[in-house]
Amino acid sequence: MKPLLLIDVDGPLNPYAALSRRRPPEGYTRHRMRPTGWTTGPALPVLLNPRHGEELLALAARYELVWATTWKDEANEWVGPRLGLPALPYVDWPAMHGSAPAGTYWKTQYVVEYAAGRPFAWIDDEITELDRAWITAGQGADGSSLLLRIDPWVGLQRADFDALAAWADGRGSG
Ligand SMILES: [Mg+2]
Repeated sequence: MKPLLLIDVDGPLNPYAALSRRRPPEGYTRHRMRPTGWTTGPALPVLLNPRHGEELLALAARYELVWATTWKDEANEWVGPRLGLPALPYVDWPAMHGSAPAGTYWKTQYVVEYAAGRPFAWIDDEITELDRAWITAGQGADGSSLLLRIDPWVGLQRADFDALAAWADGRGSG
């Protein structure tokens, strides 16, 4: 069974911090979106890079791709199609921005629950060492997860895709 690749939108795919710059970063297009809940005021600006879609599709040979974002299933409506991605399964958070154990990010407990013992890689801009420590303690440090913190100023980079491919390949041979 392939490991899961849990994908956050805001940060990794949409480097929202860079929205404050006059021009989108190289390769990105600025979109305007109106997901559920974003009903008043100007539409939500979102930066997306179609290369990310190609890279994620290439990784689908090694991983099962899953959205792990507050966009939940709306990532399939607003984000996936603009990146050329098919509809993906998503983590349906029981609660968002709520309490979390041991200083971890609120998503972490649910990511682990969703993986249910299956190896997983996770890309998110809010991962910290506390998340790594908590997950590693729970898993007995057997290397069954890879947590990549992505800078929300730059989004996913070549090195991240290479690291994801290498980790999946390393698991396959080990
Ligand atoms: Mg994020």
